[in-house]
Amino acid sequence: MAFKERDKPFRLLMMESLAHRMDLSREDRSKYASWVKGYNGEVEFDSIMEQLKCENLVLNDLYLNVRGKRFQIDTLLITAKNLYIYEVKNFAGEYYYENEKMYFGRTKKEVFDPLYQINHAESALRQLLDQMGYNLGIKKFIVFVNRNFTLFQAPLNSGMVLPGMLTSHFSMINDISDRLNQTHFRFAKEIKPMHMEDFTLHNVPFYEDKLLKKGIICFYCGSFIDCFINNRTCFCKSCNKKELISKTVIRHAQEYKRLFPEQRITTSAIAKWCDHQVAPSRIRYIFNQQLIAKGTGRWRYYEFSS
Ligand SMILES: [Zn+2]
Repeated sequence: MAFKERDKPFRLLMMESLAHRMDLSREDRSKYASWVKGYNGEVEFDSIMEQLKCENLVLNDLYLNVRGKRFQIDTLLITAKNLYIYEVKNFAGEYYYENEKMYFGRTKKEVFDPLYQINHAESALRQLLDQMGYNLGIKKFIVFVNRNFTLFQAPLNSGMVLPGMLTSHFSMINDISDRLNQTHFRFAKEIKPMHMEDFTLHNVPFYEDKLLKKGIICFYCGSFIDCFINNRTCFCKSCNKKELISKTVIRHAQEYKRLFPEQRITTSAIAKWCDHQVAPSRIRYIFNQQLIAKGTGRWRYYEFSS
């Protein structure tokens, strides 16, 4: 298990809600699709990392700060030999590299250079290590996880790991036989709480309550659900999966809070958010069990325990 697990990024969760509940422009739809693709690539990479045999600590998805500058690391792997930082790309199709720039083959359009991204992350991490008082070596790699990815004229020794090189790359890491020492564990413990989730709504389209379709959304496939069994379970006719209503209600309260952080979670607000598919008495019962109640009577609202 990773020392720091990967959570779905905040802006992806936001976009997911908006994609289900309102009409997105073509541009936003394609942005959303590329975020989903990127995230899926990272999750796939996580499953490769879980198979590592050498002693290691993995910290996923770190948003860090050094001297007022933000930087992000998709995956940080700590081994006895080095720190490894990975930038994970889920590009598909044919690309080529020319004059230190990367292009998509079909359109010949330049794409954002992953080498630039990883070099920035490396230099920022080096500064942070300095600041924290650690002297650990850093190796950086860009990993292309999609089997349908080809890169022509890939620069040699640039740290690009193409799909066909993944196995040999990880067998090289697995050859590290030294054990982690106190410094590595201390470093992992110190850097983990430095992660600050990115809550900015950069690139998320404008939305407001009245633009959003109300209702219960299936956890698994994103369809709207209107079928319930025994008042305890909801059932999705699109994907045939079930979820306990208590989980569904909490999930929708979380979604509501994310979209409208200034609003209070009340029984009636969430009943309306779920398009009155769940009785307020049921919602109140679930909230009383799982959330922290504040205020009394008709001013009662709920908060999540942190
Ligand atoms: Zn479903």
